[in-house]
Amino acid sequence: MQDCIFCKIVNKEIPVKAIYEDEQIIAFSDINPVAPVHILVITKKHIANLLDTSPDDAALLGHMMMKIPEIAEIAGVSRDGFRVVFNTKDNGGQTVYHLHGHILGGRFMKWPPG
Ligand code: 5GP
Ligand code: ZN
Repeated sequence: MQDCIFCKIVNKEIPVKAIYEDEQIIAFSDINPVAPVHILVITKKHIANLLDTSPDDAALLGHMMMKIPEIAEIAGVSRDGFRVVFNTKDNGGQTVYHLHGHILGGRFMKWPPG
């Protein structure tokens, strides 16, 4: 989608150092990390957020979730644990409307979040 920053990353118009990539997803470090390890896992398909998914996306969403432990292992946070966040719309704090999960680790994550 035009003017979508994550579509530009998918299309390699904006270069990122991917820590994992396959035909459906890319994972790379957040430009503004809020934890020692802060990885974004984005779909290659433009989907605004979880509210914008359809049953046709079930395999893609399953793939994304199944790959998160592998990406966490590559990022070095699987031993001590990590948090996965899908910010959704305004109250969720979503700023980029292209589906992505945040993998946060490298420190203890407080609960409830701010
Ligand atoms: P959201 O706020 O939508 O949950 O998450 C969007 C995230 O994308 C933010 O944490 C922000 O720092 C990150 N981000 C925005 N633009 C870029 C970019 O060009 N490169 C990278 N690596 N991260 C980005
Ligand atoms: Zn997009």
